[in-house]
Amino acid sequence: MELIVCCPRCGEDENLHGEMEMGDITVHCGSCNLIWLRDLQPRCSRCDSSDVRPAHEAIVSKSRGSQLSIQSARLIYLCQKCDAAKLSHYQMTNSPIMPENLPTEQ
Ligand SMILES: [Zn+2]
Ligand SMILES: [Zn+2]
Repeated sequence: MELIVCCPRCGEDENLHGEMEMGDITVHCGSCNLIWLRDLQPRCSRCDSSDVRPAHEAIVSKSRGSQLSIQSARLIYLCQKCDAAKLSHYQMTNSPIMPENLPTEQ
């Protein structure tokens, strides 16, 4: 399988590292640190529609204190139907979407 991809965020096409993980290929961009799953035919996990749009979700971690800091971002796909509100918000702000499950106090 050939790994011809370029980073959906910065367009890097050389400084990329692909990794096979349980049958999926995870690609990491060495330039902007974006991590995404190389899915040839992304589909909505809820309605199985292929009418999805790529978006970036923030990878958040809790640093000392209670500040949440954005470490990186990964590529997710938003369904035009199921994630319509999220998608239009994302397209308006063009900033990474905060994950639904934020790290909690340990
Ligand atoms: Zn990149
Ligand atoms: Zn859907």
